[in-house]
Amino acid sequence: MRQTGAMRTIEDHRRAVLALLAPIAQTLGTETLPLSADRVAADPALYAHRVLAVDLIAPSSLPSFDNSQMDGYAVCAADLAEATPGQPVRLPVAERVAAGDPFRAHRPGTATPVMTGAPIPSGADAVVQIERADPPVFPSDAVRDATVAFTAPVVAGTFVRATGSDVARGDVLLEAGTPLGAAHYGVIAGTGLTEVPVRRRPRVLLVSTGHEIRDAGTELEPGQIFDSNSLALSVALQQIGCTVTARPCRSDEADDLLAVLADGAPDADLVVTVGGVSAGAREVVRDALGPLGVEFLKVALQPGGPQGLGRIVIGAGEHPLPVVCLPGNPVSALVSFEAFVRPALLAVLLAGVDSAPEPALREVRRAPVAHGFDSPPAHHQLRRGILRPDGTLELVGGPSSHLLHSYAASTVLVHVPVGVTDVAAGDELDFWRIDG
Ligand code: AMP
Ligand code: MG
Repeated sequence: MRQTGAMRTIEDHRRAVLALLAPIAQTLGTETLPLSADRVAADPALYAHRVLAVDLIAPSSLPSFDNSQMDGYAVCAADLAEATPGQPVRLPVAERVAAGDPFRAHRPGTATPVMTGAPIPSGADAVVQIERADPPVFPSDAVRDATVAFTAPVVAGTFVRATGSDVARGDVLLEAGTPLGAAHYGVIAGTGLTEVPVRRRPRVLLVSTGHEIRDAGTELEPGQIFDSNSLALSVALQQIGCTVTARPCRSDEADDLLAVLADGAPDADLVVTVGGVSAGAREVVRDALGPLGVEFLKVALQPGGPQGLGRIVIGAGEHPLPVVCLPGNPVSALVSFEAFVRPALLAVLLAGVDSAPEPALREVRRAPVAHGFDSPPAHHQLRRGILRPDGTLELVGGPSSHLLHSYAASTVLVHVPVGVTDVAAGDELDFWRIDG
């Protein structure tokens, strides 16, 4: 077992975790999702938190034909060049074109009623909104020889949604590594594609440890507690697009943990262990994985100082499996996830085709704190808090790492850098929003 004396900076450890996990990007490969609202309804989870696997080429333009942006009259702009309120230009009304109607020809010197989305009849080059026409309503079908007057000129192109003005056929529609949200699925479907290649989800074997932890729904013996970490980290990992298999090790025996790992390792791209890494008498993760070469160290982060990482060959697996070891206090585990695991795994998932992954951090914002507080000089603190409506940061709960309810009540993690000991009301600090 290697034990480093000096504390590693939070940035250095983040880079080390990313270096450990980066090779996963090469092994993910792609899955193909059918693009159908029925399939989304049948299996919504399949479409959640997915990332595009390839640079997607647009098979068609959007819009794929010039069409009207308004209900109005398609005209030749030149016909209205002289129109004024005093001397309106009056034109005969041609046959109406609705969305979905075939392409038509426009006769100069007429006004063609066009509905939103209708193909602009060839020859027309502008649309005048119906509200700007006189009368400002379309003539009923019963009216023969209807005319319409215009009181102002129109610039060519007005309210014409030009072919390719959103997407041009043959262009890169979306780049590999794009997280797919509603608009992405929509635009891909809009170009006529029927399926989309996405990155396979990283498979995480999540092993919470401790002989005191039990599943919810069981009868606790004195001294036992319910397992918070398996749930919290399963959700956190799934929210960044991972598939999680949670296999708690309810024992502090190294052999028991090794058996759990050997069982789950063949189906995993990485292992995240929780608990058993600090300086207690029996630290099951250190005891089991230290002899296999996993490094345990202290990071200048609070909470979340004790950390471990390395590669192990275990079970039926032949290849070294990356292992990230987080501390077991529930707040430490989640803060460690935010500081190290999330940026590294997101980087792996969101990497472009040729680019080396960079830690994918939450957006750093800055705001004044509402109240003063102390901070230990040697550690970067990630305090839990809320952003108040007045734009100031208010801490929620104390610095202790068991205050999971306080974490749940928080919307931000507030950064208090190494070297800062006294924070006064009004001092500005960086923060991450964690509520999205
Ligand atoms: P450890 O890192 O294993 O020393 O655990 C630190 C603290 O976190 C102890 O109070 C543990 O009981 C608690 N803890 C560890 N694992 C869990 C878990 N899965 N759920 C809730 N609390 C835990
Ligand atoms: Mg423990």
